[in-house]
Order: sequence, then structure tokens, then C-alpha cells
Amino acid sequence: MRYRLEKLYSENQIKERIDELCLVISQDYAGSDLVLVCVLRGSVYFAVDLTRRLTIPFTLDFISISNYGHETGPLGIVRITKDLDIPIAGKQVLVLEDIVDTGLSLNYLLRNLKTRHPSGLRVCTLLNVPARRLVEVPIDYQGFELPDVFAVGYGLDYHERYRNLMDIYALVRETD
Ligand code: 5GP
Ligand code: MG
Repeated sequence: MRYRLEKLYSENQIKERIDELCLVISQDYAGSDLVLVCVLRGSVYFAVDLTRRLTIPFTLDFISISNYGHETGPLGIVRITKDLDIPIAGKQVLVLEDIVDTGLSLNYLLRNLKTRHPSGLRVCTLLNVPARRLVEVPIDYQGFELPDVFAVGYGLDYHERYRNLMDIYALVRETD
């Protein structure tokens, strides 16, 4: 199977959008005990760029979940493979995601985090693909809305490739 990359958003467009998000998030969370939860591994690049431009104090922590559904179809079997290191009870939690697609992983993650009684729980995703949603999830902040494509670059991989690309691309199957 041959693929080609079609550019969706440039490094500069991503940077400008993150600047805008940071303005809003810094205002919304001013004076609160903010915990940013970065969902490994795709969101690391987004989380690094976003956190460096926030103007408010925060704690950064990481969680890793695996969704076997993406290998075999939308089964939605999700589990935590690396948990948070800090307790989030009574904290304002903002989950940082690279992309929300079916919503299955995020739905699981939000239900899990809710049981730990944060005082607030919101989601910030760089990319949102509402056309592929299987379960409704609340998105509070989003970078860009995408049509039904498979995105790579800027942390997003295809079998571990393309994470290091500065821009975001759609991976398009060649039909020849
Ligand atoms: P969801 O559970 O919403 O379907 O997506 C879970 C995870 O699958 C995302 O956080 C992301 O890591 C991966 N994923 C979903 N859609 C895409 C995509 O278009 N490109 C890439 N590279 N990963 C995706
Ligand atoms: Mg992810």
C-alpha cells in the first residue's frame, strides 16, 4: 500500500492557534490549582508547546492509555498503562489530548479521572474529528476541527513514523 502526505496545518498555523488557546486557558484558570494531564504519547509535543506559553502556574503530569480498538476495529477496550503520579482530588484538571477521534479513549479516561474527585475536569485537544465520533465526549478547548482523515505529524504517528514532522498532514492512501 502506498501513501502520500497532504499538508493540513503548517508549523506556523499550529503555533498561532496554540497562542490563542493559551490566552484563553490562562484567563480561565487564573488563580486556580491547575493540573495539566498530558495523554502519552502523541500529545507530548502539543503539551510542551502549550505549557511553555501559559502565563499561569500549573502542575504537569502524564498518563498513558492504550486503546486496542485502533488495531482491530472500534472495540473500545481501553486501559491505563501508566497512571498519574499525583492525586487530583480537589484540583482543576485539564486533559491535553492530541486528537479526539471515536472518543472512546477520552470517554474512558474522563470516567476514570472523575472517580478521583477533581474539582473540575475539562478537555483541551489539538485536533477534533467529530465525523468519526462513536461516543459523545465534552471538548472544552480545541485547536482545529478535522474532516474524516488520518492525521500525522506534530506528535501524531503512523506505526511510530512521522511524529517528528513540524506540520500536520493527512495520510492519504494512493489509489493507482
Ligand atoms: P479515539 O479513542 O478518540 O478514537 O482516539 C484515541 C487515540 O488514537 C488518539 O488519542 C490518538 O492517539 C489515536 N488516533 C486517533 N485518530 C488518529 C489519527 O487520525 N491519527 C493518529 N496518528 N492517531 C490517531
Ligand atoms: Mg492519544
